[in-house]
Amino acid sequence: MKKHLSSAPSIRVRRRRGHAPSERKTAIAAILVICAVIIAVSAALCCKAGFPACSAQRTPTPQNTFVPTSASLTTATPLPTSTPLPTAAPLPTATPAPYTFVSVSVSDAAEGQLALVNFEHDFPAADSTDVVPVTAAGSLLTERNDLSLAQPALSALSALAEAFSEQTGGDRLLLTSAYRTLEYQQGVYDDYAAAYGQAAADAYVAAPGTSEHHTGLAADLSSMSKDGERVTLPNHPQFEWLKVHCADYGFILRYPPEKENITHVAYEPWHFRYIGKENAAAVRALGITYEEYIEYLRGFTPETKLLHVPSLSAAKPEDLGSAEFSALPDSGYVIYFVPTDENAGTESVNIPVPAQCGSYFISGSNDGGFIVTAEL
Ligand SMILES: [Zn+2]
Repeated sequence: MKKHLSSAPSIRVRRRRGHAPSERKTAIAAILVICAVIIAVSAALCCKAGFPACSAQRTPTPQNTFVPTSASLTTATPLPTSTPLPTAAPLPTATPAPYTFVSVSVSDAAEGQLALVNFEHDFPAADSTDVVPVTAAGSLLTERNDLSLAQPALSALSALAEAFSEQTGGDRLLLTSAYRTLEYQQGVYDDYAAAYGQAAADAYVAAPGTSEHHTGLAADLSSMSKDGERVTLPNHPQFEWLKVHCADYGFILRYPPEKENITHVAYEPWHFRYIGKENAAAVRALGITYEEYIEYLRGFTPETKLLHVPSLSAAKPEDLGSAEFSALPDSGYVIYFVPTDENAGTESVNIPVPAQCGSYFISGSNDGGFIVTAEL
């Protein structure tokens, strides 16, 4: 720094003009002040430029504090001064979390729109199902006046009946059986066994507690021609259309042919189950039974991947995809399974739901967890 001062032309010029001693002292003091300022400024500029010698001496801010891991603790060798300080992890951004959590009672895992009900999955809420009376309206006929369905199933069935009538030029769907209580199902079983024998009853009538009709989401259908003639569905010329397009309204043909080894129910071309458009589209695309679908969904969880249904018109397996839990697609639907640990001893479980989805619903699978269906 002294070298700088002695070579400063402005200072030398002042000395040659012969100022008084007091003035010289003042001048020297001023020079010292300027020198100090230059030192301070130089030091500051040096640090700001990030010169290694400076940055190594900087006091770390809290963000840059290095928290040793257990592995680093075992290393006794001090870090060389030239080693850059560890880069601080970026602070969380202000964007909202992609998921919110919905607390659901574990006891509800047996109920809901997607509950699997079959010979080994009882429906425990059979006698407390929320249903509404079905009255013949529009293109939907009823065989009896004491039928009832869960409201979502009834709304969907009414829409399906309109589409069927349009497709067939005026034929109408006929609802022959809908919600059943446990007592009613016992009566159906007993009557069938008395008429056709025990084996036939076991093949076609579910034991009380194991019938899908307990859910209020199952509909037995026939049809009536525009001429007033009753036509069973497998004999109706538009049955093929109905089997495919019932999914557009949220229904699946629950007991298809040649799947008795899986469903444990013989082919029933009249029994349709409402599960909602999103999951019905997936079942249609996959071409599998509902038993297989519930098992298939076990492969889609927040820990693995999510099932992506890009469009409700999905009709073949290639129409479906998968999605990362942390990187949701922009459109379509995601469906995933959240298992419940029956031994966890907790009464509720937190279900992750996309924070910015258009709509969603959570249903018990009645097979060890919940199924989330979300529209993106
Ligand atoms: Zn049925």
